[in-house]
Amino acid sequence: MPTELPDLRELSKEEVDKLVASFGEKPYRATQVWEWLWKKHAPSIAAMSNLSKDLRQKLAEHALLRPLVLAEQQKSSDGTIKCAFRTWDGHIVEGVLIPTPTRMTACISSQIGCSLTCSFCATGKLKRVRNLDAGEIVDQVVALAKLAQDNHQQPLSNIVYMGMGEPLLNYANTLRSAERISAEDGLGMSPRRITVSTAGIAKMIRKLADDDARFNLALSLHAANDEKRGSIMPINEQNTLAELLDALRYYARKTRKTVTFEYILFRDFNDSLEDAQELVRYCSFVHAKVNLIEYNTTDDGQFQGTSSAKAELFQRYLENKGVLSRIRRSRGRDIDAACGQLANKNQPALKEGERILK
Ligand code: SAH
Repeated sequence: MPTELPDLRELSKEEVDKLVASFGEKPYRATQVWEWLWKKHAPSIAAMSNLSKDLRQKLAEHALLRPLVLAEQQKSSDGTIKCAFRTWDGHIVEGVLIPTPTRMTACISSQIGCSLTCSFCATGKLKRVRNLDAGEIVDQVVALAKLAQDNHQQPLSNIVYMGMGEPLLNYANTLRSAERISAEDGLGMSPRRITVSTAGIAKMIRKLADDDARFNLALSLHAANDEKRGSIMPINEQNTLAELLDALRYYARKTRKTVTFEYILFRDFNDSLEDAQELVRYCSFVHAKVNLIEYNTTDDGQFQGTSSAKAELFQRYLENKGVLSRIRRSRGRDIDAACGQLANKNQPALKEGERILK
């Protein structure tokens, strides 16, 4: 069964070196293979055209390549492009290109579905199917970078792990993909341009600090009060605000990085002066910037976004108290491509020649 072979991109550089050496090939051949995997993004082993047929055949006997396939694109009236990618085993994940006058952002998924069931998020309604591997996460970046070139003649400026899934529950692949995105023998993007967003897993935030992760961290806070936060984010039960604060302070001490808090403003739920006071108080314990996010409608039937007047009041209060914040306008809503709207609504049909391995 071909699916029992490892994906070549699951191997470390040392393992690729060893594998290629075991065929009696010179070391530079292993470097060529590595480049095909992470710089030239070969769609298959057969496509590695500067390797001998013999070497390609041997590689194919020991491993395979299972890149994501771009199955469908949808373009929003604001230029945002949502992509549906198909995995080798037939699942769909979404990635989004968000062009603004100052940025070209790729929003990528880390899991197929999500296990966290946040009540305001459409992805939370899908079952978690499996983690994406590092290669599948990088594939989204590569495809979105190509779209940015083709449509805007620009490279990507930012990568955000804010698509489907909880990156810190797919810890190893999140770290490895970010390493491959920033490595010189990978995509070569600065880690300062990469942001990983988490719903808040205290243990893993500490681990990020211990592992010296160099990307930025954003925490989906949404309420600075356990009762409120727990009522919309079940993860808050095992990761209370106090526990998160402890982890964030540890992270800040070790990495010297500023965390970003994401805070969706829900009408009459967390948009009052009292809520702003609680947020300011929370921010007084750890240095953080706040992104105030517009709520994007999902089928939750529970929430509404706040008014722009209230959002401005809320922001002004934070500013007056010395908390750096800004209001993040939503993009791609008309095609359900905005934060929290990724739910695989479109299930594109297989194209000719496309096949599923499992
Ligand atoms: N699991 C991670 C990353 C995915 S969500 C996390 O929770 O951070 C990316 C961001 O979109 C998070 O801040 C999330 O809270 C936000 N989001 C989810 N649903 C939303 C909605 N309906 N409107 C606006 N933002 C939403």
